[in-house]
Parts: sequence; structure tokens; C-alpha cells
Amino acid sequence: MAEIVIVPEAACARAVSEADAFTAVEAVFAAMARGEARNFPVIREALGHADALYGFKSGFDRAGLALGVKSGGFWPHNAEIGLTNHQSTIFLFDPDTGQLRALVGGNYLTAVRTAAAAAVSVAHLARPDAQVLGMIGAGHQAAFQLSAVLRQRKFTRVVAWNRDPAKLDRLAAVAEKAGVGFEAAEPQAVCAAADVIVTITSSFAPLLKDGWVRPGTHLACMGTDTAGKQEVAAGIVGAASVFTDEVAQSVTIGEAQHAVKAGQLSAEAIIPLGAVINGAHPGRQSGDEITLFDGTGVGLQDLAVAQVAMRVAAEQGLAQTVSL
Ligand code: NAD
Repeated sequence: MAEIVIVPEAACARAVSEADAFTAVEAVFAAMARGEARNFPVIREALGHADALYGFKSGFDRAGLALGVKSGGFWPHNAEIGLTNHQSTIFLFDPDTGQLRALVGGNYLTAVRTAAAAAVSVAHLARPDAQVLGMIGAGHQAAFQLSAVLRQRKFTRVVAWNRDPAKLDRLAAVAEKAGVGFEAAEPQAVCAAADVIVTITSSFAPLLKDGWVRPGTHLACMGTDTAGKQEVAAGIVGAASVFTDEVAQSVTIGEAQHAVKAGQLSAEAIIPLGAVINGAHPGRQSGDEITLFDGTGVGLQDLAVAQVAMRVAAEQGLAQTVSL
């Protein structure tokens, strides 16, 4: 008889902390760069029902023994009935037998693993003396991003922009809780002030323009995860040292897609962040360099945090177990 652990969505935030997500994502990026963990091709389809987009992200991490799939997508009318538009569930399988081991709610975990990716990039690539954090975007992911990144340096101030300024309130609340100053500013002023900038919008046109980003800045570009989306001018990407979670995604659906298409950046020049974590690449090499992390989001990140959720929730009695 096989035991299956069920971790409901509501238990995930109690089971997986920001720090747990950071450790899990850093480890799986490192395993990817060593060739020990592999993402499988992503499926993403319009259902032709409820205007929904549905898909799978899957992979196998031989180092962490995580095998599974995140299944879900975007249901744009959910908000009208009080549900989150993004819905996903993570399935973990026993890599030795293929038997189902766990069903884990994927909504919180998606946000915390995406924030962890930005935080890992800041930990490894931002200048050690970075003090001002810039935020571009204030949607669902942004508060998670801000909270996770604030832990990585001794930031004293957050400078933020959002298309709808009213939503900046939730970022201000995160900054206040962390004891750092907060102010709203236009994107050009964010660039002029910030040492680290996180972009986390659904924009299809550059919000940060050529010439705005100061030497020495670290950019974590987290919003562009689809062909056509863009947050940063291709010229900025072309002039930066570019790091990513997955090069194949960076050049097709990530922020780098536009610079690659324009001939301003070659795929060969893009460095897996895992190579920096492993010490195979030095990462930032001067205080003047602009480093850019193109965070496209990979299934292995989901599996990494779901493994933690499965283990901790079972240990702490937050999970249900069924025998099949
Ligand atoms: P959301 O719908 O809650 O928020 C969207 C944000 O984008 C808001 O700040 C909104 O003001 C802004 N925005 C939308 N269109 C814009 C435009 N044309 N110009 C400027 N700003 C615009 O979404 P979310 O859940 O916070 O996700 C934000 C983005 O991050 C999405 O594009 C999503 O696909 C992406 N995402 C990436 C990953 C990853 O792993 N890289 C993971 C999750 C989400």
C-alpha cells in the first residue's frame, strides 16, 4: 500500500518559510548547473474554456531526488468569485518506483519560490554595499519579492513604482515591517536611486529605458516569462552581464529574448546562476558592472519547495495522509 501526503494550500505558508525556499531554490539552481537536475519541456495551452491558460512544468532533480510536475495556469475570472486567478497543484512522485508521493497546493509555493530566485540572485550578484532597493510592479508577486530580497543586503530604503499607485500600499507595509524607508517614484527616478531593482510586472513594453540604469546596479527581472513580454530595454540587457535560471527559457520567453533577437546578446554569453553558486563562474567582477538576472521560472523550483512542504507538513501534522 502506498502512502500519499496531501499538503493543502492553507498549510504551505506554515510549512515553507522564505529562508527554506531560498535554500531549496539555491540548491536546485546549483544542481541544474552541475547537470544533475533537468527541466522537461513546458506545456502551456489555451483551453478554449473559461478563457483559461493551462499547462505543466516538470523535471527531475537527481541530487535532491525530486521528481514531479506542477499543473495549473491562469483563470482570469476567478477573482469575480473570490478565488486567486493563478491556480496550481504540485504532484511529487517516488523517483525509484514512479508511485505518487504527494499532492501539494502550488499557489503560495509559486510566489515564494519566485521570490527566492530573485533573492538568490541578489545574494550572489548584488554589490555587498547595496542600500536602496527599487521595485517595479506591485501585483500579487511583488510583496513576496520585496520581503525576500530585503533580507539579502542591509537595505535602508525602498523606492517603488506601479502602474496603479494605489497598490503600492502593500509594498509600503512590507517595507515598514522590515524597518526600512519607503517612497513612490517614477521608473526613471527608481533607476537613479536604486542599487538593486526587481521588475515584476506583466508588461509587453520596456518600463526601464536605455541610459537609466546606473553602473553597478543589479537587476532581477522576474516578470517576463512569456514570448512578447518585456520590462527592460534590450540595450540595457545587451550591455549587462546576464545570468539566468535556464538559458533555453531566457532566450525564448525571458527578458533576454529581445536583446538576443536584436543581436545585442548571444545565448552563449548568458550564464546559469547555478554556475555562480557552484563557484564555476565568478559572478559580478567589478563595482561598476550591471548584473541582470533573467528569472524565467522553472518547474524544478516548484518541486524543490514542494519537497520541503511535504516533509515539514508531515512532521508538523499539517498534512493529511491517505493510503492507496
Ligand atoms: P498581477 O496580475 O498580480 O500583477 C501584475 C503587475 O504588473 C501589476 O503590478 C500591474 O500593475 C503590472 N502591469 C500589468 N500590465 C502592465 C503594463 N502594461 N505596464 C506596466 N505594468 C503592468 O501578477 P503577478 O502574479 O504579480 O505576476 C507578475 C508577473 O510575474 C506576471 O507577468 C507573471 O506571469 C510573472 N511571473 C513570473 C514568475 C517567474 O518565475 N519568473 C512566476 C510567477 C509570475
